[in-house]
Amino acid sequence: MTLETLDRPTDFLALEAEYGARNYKPLDVVLTRGEGVHVWDVEGRRYLDCLSAYSAVNQGHCHPRILEAMTRQASRLTLTSRAFRNDQLGLFYEEFCALTRSHSVLPMNTGVEAVESAIKVARKWGYEVKGVAEGQAEIIVCADNFHGRTLSVVGFSTDPVSRSGFGPFGPGFKVVPFGDPAALEAAITPNTVAFLVEPIQGEAGVIIPPAGYLAKARELCTRHEVILILDEIQTGLGRTGRLLAEEHEGIEADLTLIGKALSGGFYPVSAVLSNKEVLGVLKPGEHGSTFGGNPLGCAVARMALRVLVEEGMIDNAAVQGERLTRGLRDLRSNLVKDVRGRGLMIAVELHEAAGGARAYCVALQARGLLCKETHDHTIRIAPPLVITTDQTDWALEQFEAVLAG
Ligand SMILES: *Cc1c(COP(=O)(O)O)cnc(C)c1O
Repeated sequence: MTLETLDRPTDFLALEAEYGARNYKPLDVVLTRGEGVHVWDVEGRRYLDCLSAYSAVNQGHCHPRILEAMTRQASRLTLTSRAFRNDQLGLFYEEFCALTRSHSVLPMNTGVEAVESAIKVARKWGYEVKGVAEGQAEIIVCADNFHGRTLSVVGFSTDPVSRSGFGPFGPGFKVVPFGDPAALEAAITPNTVAFLVEPIQGEAGVIIPPAGYLAKARELCTRHEVILILDEIQTGLGRTGRLLAEEHEGIEADLTLIGKALSGGFYPVSAVLSNKEVLGVLKPGEHGSTFGGNPLGCAVARMALRVLVEEGMIDNAAVQGERLTRGLRDLRSNLVKDVRGRGLMIAVELHEAAGGARAYCVALQARGLLCKETHDHTIRIAPPLVITTDQTDWALEQFEAVLAG
């Protein structure tokens, strides 16, 4: 079968079911085009995208300026490997560091590669700078974390679905409750090299820690000579109404992990940003990636960062996020247990009696709004940051219709 002979959505579902690994359970909507906040299915129906590919398309689908940067670079030079230099990498470094006030950058591709890279660097720093005995480095992580899908990362997940059946896992990680600075302090030993945490736990259901938590974690890490690694792969780049979520507590991480929207959804680009000289422990040959730092990725990321700032998307996320959150709180619905959010990273948690969030996502789909349940009872709402007031109000009308009762 070719695309031309596939006409009904069920044909596409059948192909996926026949040939694909079954590691996802998507909504049955087959998308073929996107522009701004909207996507269209193969039958021409338009939807408002309230997931944004888990915040990878913060800049909106197929942003014209990023598309232009990508096609221009793709027709010039795509990949050199790091065996040679290219004329985009240095500019990407300079612009990204200036924007985030960082000292240096390690470019990778997917988010989880940034996480893995930070773990490697933190351990090496622990042995070479902090003086931890070889093989003894400990990294503290939080319960209900999500940092990606590689073996070492699922090895310190507390989600049985992500973890079960994939062991054995490597040692060196300690789990503490999220949002509890006393538990963090109690877990720190002389062998602790890093604390890895999401500023807001996205996959766990948009869990916002108590005010002051990150500031306290910053203070503890500084006092005990522990590297604070903030995973801003989902919270970063405007999603919470600030460039980085750390700004809400006026702190700076030692290592910041960025991915997803770093390429506006065009291409996998991730990075470790370093405030201290932590990245300096890496010497030639000790870490790398064939595609990391390639000119195509760098050109795309440079423009993805530029449009985020120049087109006012970060402030718009704050304004529309507040409007959407307030509107959702004002819905008088017996089904809703909690509405929480920061910027355009929002969750509506339903009471168990509502019977699960999936059915409401399906009902929203029928009304032209796409979002995805997280766990069983929570609807996650994260539209592209280019959403307008009219579109926000339209989305609210759909939520009101579906959650009435
Ligand atoms: C998506 C995500 C990752 C993993 O990114 P991939 O590109 O899927 O590897 C890591 N951490 C957080 C917080 C994420 O949201």
